[in-house]
Amino acid sequence: MPRIETLAARAGSRPDPTSGALSVPLQLATTFEHTPDGQLPQGWLYQRYDNPTQHETEQALAALDGAARALLFPTGMAAGATALQALPAGSHVVLCDDSYFSFRALAAQQFPRWGLTWSLADFSDPDAVRAALRPETRLLWAETPSNPLLKVCDIAALADVAHAAGAQLLVDGTFAPPVLQQPLALGADIVLHSATKYLGGHGDVMGGVLAFREDGAHAADCHGLRLLAGATASPFAAWMILRGVRTLPARMAWHCANAKQLALALHAHPRVARVHYPGLPDHPQHAVAAAQMRDFGGMLSFEVDGGETAALAVAGRLRLFTNATSLGSTESLVEHRASIEGPASTTPRGLLRLSVGLEHAQDLLDDLAQALDA
Ligand code: PLP
Repeated sequence: MPRIETLAARAGSRPDPTSGALSVPLQLATTFEHTPDGQLPQGWLYQRYDNPTQHETEQALAALDGAARALLFPTGMAAGATALQALPAGSHVVLCDDSYFSFRALAAQQFPRWGLTWSLADFSDPDAVRAALRPETRLLWAETPSNPLLKVCDIAALADVAHAAGAQLLVDGTFAPPVLQQPLALGADIVLHSATKYLGGHGDVMGGVLAFREDGAHAADCHGLRLLAGATASPFAAWMILRGVRTLPARMAWHCANAKQLALALHAHPRVARVHYPGLPDHPQHAVAAAQMRDFGGMLSFEVDGGETAALAVAGRLRLFTNATSLGSTESLVEHRASIEGPASTTPRGLLRLSVGLEHAQDLLDDLAQALDA
């Protein structure tokens, strides 16, 4: 099996049989010819069911995650919502307490309508997760590293907890795409990615992925639900994501190197109370991160001395970092998450989240220094 850099660089690049093109053709057709009695000579019926460009992208994504099957969705939220809606009514879900805030909002607002129940647990402590289990628990929802506190959970330990309880483990790996972490190889059942972030990589396409360790009933249910609910990615989005994947390992190496330098500089800065980055030796789960991640990612957050007022002032003085939501693009972004998450936010008020881009590290360091030292 080729290594992940090779898989990524060659994703979708085999010569197209009709033209010899080394880039997958973008197939925009909504419908495909079938026989009078509904046979599908080429395997395709209707774009919403499945389509050639999406299929090509899914093959590449499955290979990167070591998955038996991958499904592409229009957004990361659509991917996550599908995995949840495909659970039997009456199921209980344990969510990581620092999971992406929109998934917690989804649980609060929609689970009662779907017949699901849920609770939160600290996933950095497998015993806390075990204590949250109920007889009807069907899914553990981990996110590692988490958004925005960069908490790390032990994927192998949680897979054991889930399987002993007859449940599945889903890992939202948006902060650590396949080149940094392989949750399925560690025992997870499903990996979720917001492809809007590092997989797309350029801040110009949205997408979501569910990658399944086994091509079993849950994968089939998710596929059936996607088809009927119409949560199919557009071929253009699929094509853009495949294009992004080809440079994923190269981009991640640079993101990680930049983030590491920034984390160290922030850690040493007198106006910074705390840095959340799994690559720092004093991160509470550094040992777990070092064991299960190849590198520590391009995301970090830090707490400014002086709380919210000081944090907002720093964010306002940054020039190179743009105040904007999202992550994983080439340009560096800063965000005061508590402001964006709203009144229900549990994020520390003095916390700023950085998506470290692909600029020169020294330019980013200079920008942070002028904003903190002013
Ligand atoms: N998971 C995480 C960790 C995220 O940060 C996000 C979005 O920021 C999502 C999932 C949802 O992805 P999307 O915005 O593509 O729906």
